[in-house]
Amino acid sequence: MIANQIRQIAENENISVFGISAASKMADELPGHRPTDLLPGAQSMICFGIPVPHNIYDMPIYELETTWRSQNLFYRRLDTLSIRFASILEESGAGAIPIYGCMPLGINKMGVVVGYLNQIRMGEVTGIGTIGKNGLLIHSRYGSRLMLGGLLTTAILPEMRYPEIVEPGCPPNCQICADACPVNAIMADKKQVDIMCCLRYTARTPAMSMIKFAILRAFNPQVAARFMSLRTFDEHTFHICSKCVALCPYGNAKSR
Ligand code: SF4
Ligand code: SF4
Repeated sequence: MIANQIRQIAENENISVFGISAASKMADELPGHRPTDLLPGAQSMICFGIPVPHNIYDMPIYELETTWRSQNLFYRRLDTLSIRFASILEESGAGAIPIYGCMPLGINKMGVVVGYLNQIRMGEVTGIGTIGKNGLLIHSRYGSRLMLGGLLTTAILPEMRYPEIVEPGCPPNCQICADACPVNAIMADKKQVDIMCCLRYTARTPAMSMIKFAILRAFNPQVAARFMSLRTFDEHTFHICSKCVALCPYGNAKSR
């Protein structure tokens, strides 16, 4: 069975978490960001992830630089697997497209920078984690450190996941992430982040003119999104803050 073949490759590639679910579970996303908007006839989605090692976030110096490099390497690894799995499905006669982890990005109707398909929700509906108060996918072993890859396919695949655990979610009395956020971007009660507020504070994009981006975003969001993808992502964006990931007690070896 093709689903088992893909799962086996994921296991052989040391992918830490893996899940398959029906694409219809994300049919309530905003228009333009629903599975069938991206792949007409989409039936199933696959999501998988690997964690950035916690010790990187704990480095007394150079932790931001090392996180930046680690994430860039992992995005390439995950995106490469996404396109590999999509090709395997296409070879089998199904339609399939990769859902990449960081870029390219779009700008939705509210002017917010978003992925084409919300990977955090993909992670939740495929059962590989749950959305935490910091708005990220959290996992009881890996905290918020999971980086994700995924794909959509027209093949009807059986639901499956590994590891097979039920995630408890954030403890009711914890809001370490929200308290630590230097710009109050985390709305813990809604499990949401004001992503533009976060990015304005944390993202350093020396190759991109912010004035040009703001003008393009106001008049032509699609061109603005392309401009941003070309000028900022992969190695071209440096984040000065990752407190909401680094301080989450879940997945921190010191807190186990
Ligand atoms: S990365 Fe920093 S600024 Fe952005 S939400 Fe997390 S703690 Fe707040
Ligand atoms: S720091 Fe606490 S509230 Fe925030 S994501 Fe982690 S467990 Fe949830």
